[in-house]
Amino acid sequence: MTETTARIFAFVLGAVVGSFLNVCVSRWPQDQSVISPPSRCPGCGRPIRWHENVPILGWLRLRGRCAGCREPISAMYPLVELVVGLIWLAAVLHYGPTFTALRVAIVATVLLGIALTDAMHYVIPDGFTVFGFIWGVAAAFIGAALNETLPFAGLYDSLIGACVGAGAIAIAGWLGEVALKKEAMGFGDVTLMAVVGAALGPQRSLLTVFLGAALGAVSFLLLVYPIAWLQSRRKREAVDLPLVPFGVFLAPAAMIALFFGQAMIDWYRQDIMGL
Ligand SMILES: [Zn+2]
Repeated sequence: MTETTARIFAFVLGAVVGSFLNVCVSRWPQDQSVISPPSRCPGCGRPIRWHENVPILGWLRLRGRCAGCREPISAMYPLVELVVGLIWLAAVLHYGPTFTALRVAIVATVLLGIALTDAMHYVIPDGFTVFGFIWGVAAAFIGAALNETLPFAGLYDSLIGACVGAGAIAIAGWLGEVALKKEAMGFGDVTLMAVVGAALGPQRSLLTVFLGAALGAVSFLLLVYPIAWLQSRRKREAVDLPLVPFGVFLAPAAMIALFFGQAMIDWYRQDIMGL
């Protein structure tokens, strides 16, 4: 397989995976199967034909409308397919056609699915986290056997990391609950951090929790709060703060920690703590 063929293959495969990710994101929060029934238009129930289901192109050919009832089809579908295709392409561009590239692509795809579902439905489905956890542990074994570990955690760190990640977020949620006198964190965040820990190991999963909290705090101050404040002014009501799902911030934080976490930890130890 030439380099170009591998890259095209990675993009197409990623777009197909992105198409399946759309199905997971829309069906899992409603406890529906992602296998059957086949996709239908939510408006008129018309089954979606195979050629309309081709990632990105199907939506473009339909010009974003159902062929039956002309109801608009969300642009999120082709967008997710494009983004996942680009993620898989980027993984192969950076790591070559290796197991590590596949591992990076799958972890990034699962985290994207979790962030989208948490943002839209305020849940982190077990489908993503159970798959992500089993894949993370299995990939740690395969990576060790192939001698392909970085940027992921080694086998031992992967198992410890899952416990540390889940434990750290559970402790944060417990303390938050005591301080705020209401539920501060869902159990989905705990399962998400087990997935992150299995991929990143203990140190970088702790870093993920800190980065996620920082990202969340910054978005809250710069985006969520100002918007809620403006709306309350317009409606002349008290400020009504929306729920902010933590998984939306933990997922990108985990990707940052995967690629830059070790450098950040080294910098902190040497330049700040002088260790
Ligand atoms: Zn329709």
